Amino acid sequence: MKLKAFAKINLGLDVIGRREDGYHQVRMIMQTIRMFDQLEIEKSRKPGIRLSVNLPYVPADAGNLVYRAASLMMEEFSLPQGLDIRLNKFIPVAAGMAGGSSDAAAALVGINRLFGLGLSRGELMERGLKLGADVPYCIMRGTALAEGIGEKLTRLSPLPPCYILIGKPGVSVSTKYVYTNLKLDETTVHPDIDGMVAALKAGDLTGVTEKMGNVLESVTIPRYPVIEKIKDLMKETGALNALMSGSGPTVFGIFDDREKARQAQQRLRESRLARQVFLAEAFHNGGTEDDQ
Ligand code: ATP
Repeated sequence: MKLKAFAKINLGLDVIGRREDGYHQVRMIMQTIRMFDQLEIEKSRKPGIRLSVNLPYVPADAGNLVYRAASLMMEEFSLPQGLDIRLNKFIPVAAGMAGGSSDAAAALVGINRLFGLGLSRGELMERGLKLGADVPYCIMRGTALAEGIGEKLTRLSPLPPCYILIGKPGVSVSTKYVYTNLKLDETTVHPDIDGMVAALKAGDLTGVTEKMGNVLESVTIPRYPVIEKIKDLMKETGALNALMSGSGPTVFGIFDDREKARQAQQRLRESRLARQVFLAEAFHNGGTEDDQ
């Protein structure tokens, strides 16, 4: 069985507090984009899980969320056979694009289907939450408001048609480091999440882009100033706006014109500020069979 695990960006990311257990309370506008990892899952007569990954620096054992997703399903449902899993990663790693969470989501969906377990999407999302706060959203996909620790999801009106330029500089950022170093006080500039929800509802692309904001930039950008440089370049080359995604360091720029986006992509490549550069579109639910 072949599956696609799509990446996400955060059009808006606000942190409104911290729970007693240390988790941060967030309000995020999530958007799935057409950039994906590929997952191949096969039943095997040999018991146990065998995972192989195309990148040597990504763990292929219980340190990989795909492995953990597979173990969770095998144990809960006492699955009689083993699993051979191949993961081909294209989503930048440790980049703020939920690559690992999306791989885990695809594994849950795939195993449910492969063994005919009959779990609903909601039931898969409950299991996903045990693996990570973003996994339920990666099962849901599309445009959504994520609250709580990221698991309380409300579907939103889709992002109006646009082109999304992705630039990942050659540094990796640990999500834990960023949240640990986040300081919230009266000087914190909180993005207008409710305003963005309203702009999405109105189908107003510039209304959405002018409200883009991410409180985590206050931690990641001072440490990696290249992020600001990529944002500036995208804006100079015609992006309606540009922002860091998640805890970074990936930057995305939103364009309303394909040609402008292509030229900006070229300029970004030439600048060498980003190591990985892609041009993607938003993914909307109700995709084709091919999108499973
Ligand atoms: P988020 O946007 O959720 O913060 P991220 O893009 O920052 O995610 P990931 O690429 O998902 O981060 O993974 C971060 C770390 O998790 C990696 O450095 C890697 O060691 C580990 N990891 C576990 N499973 C995976 C996976 N399937 N793909 C990539 N990394 C994984």
